[in-house]
Amino acid sequence: MPRTQAPLTDFYVRFWGVRGGYPAPQMSSIGGHTPCVEVGVAGRRFILDAGLGIVPLGQQYEVGVEPVVILLTHLHRDHIEGLGFFTPLRNPRAHVMIFGPALPGRSLEAFLSVELSPPVFPLPWDETLANCEVIEFFPSRRTLVWPSSEAHPVWIEDDASRSVEAPVIRLMHSWAHPQGVFIFRVEWRGRSVVYATDVEGYVGGDQRLIRFARGANLIIHDAQYTMAEYTDPVHCRQGWGHSTPEMAMTVARAAGVPFLAFFHHDPRHDDEFLLAMEAASKEQFAGAFLAREGMVLGLPAPGVVERLA
Ligand SMILES: [Zn+2]
Ligand SMILES: [Zn+2]
Repeated sequence: MPRTQAPLTDFYVRFWGVRGGYPAPQMSSIGGHTPCVEVGVAGRRFILDAGLGIVPLGQQYEVGVEPVVILLTHLHRDHIEGLGFFTPLRNPRAHVMIFGPALPGRSLEAFLSVELSPPVFPLPWDETLANCEVIEFFPSRRTLVWPSSEAHPVWIEDDASRSVEAPVIRLMHSWAHPQGVFIFRVEWRGRSVVYATDVEGYVGGDQRLIRFARGANLIIHDAQYTMAEYTDPVHCRQGWGHSTPEMAMTVARAAGVPFLAFFHHDPRHDDEFLLAMEAASKEQFAGAFLAREGMVLGLPAPGVVERLA
């Protein structure tokens, strides 16, 4: 499927960047761009993270026609490094909303204005031509809803969201990553996808995440390291905030989620390595697979995931 064509389904997930840490273009069959996932639901689109995958995505947005809604899980570089080259930000007809966490003592907009200005970036942030709104996640508000009557998502009380017809985005804050991370769940008409990148597993499974993900069609879960790498006595990755396939499978299994996309692939893992990891995991959890750049998944009914591209 050409990337410029929107899938003909009312709920889909498209992977634009699946690599974690730093880009790995030489690993191109699985994908070299840093994290960016598009979720299309009921004719609206959400962009989850702004790694380098957001650059080609931006080139096919119909600015002036649809608002651009970006949700950032956290502010590590691999999740924001595509923003400077995201063409809707340079278009005066575009309406761009960036939701994300603030840093201690600094607003999200103040942070972005430094990251996207000289000397780090050639153009100053205040020359961004789009109508750009930067919205911080509230400590007390954890649910967004996007009714067709609104031009953009709005905050809603959690209880009220259970009866709405419009797409809902739930947020969960987690400390399973250095400086913390947000996990998102997009829901509509009994179908849902959970995006849990940059999370490290806990002994016995991350119970909060398991509860948060319960009953979803699909969970996109960090699986950066093999167990051998994670526990390597010389160069161990414990505490780095990333999971193994086993940790991801524990969460999916306990949450009753039938499909699991391994995500945030290590930039040192080539295709052969990742495909072997996928094959070994499938023997333990049939619904496990590697997220691949360009892959499109449809969620046509509760519990169902179809590969569309
Ligand atoms: Zn990351
Ligand atoms: Zn991170």
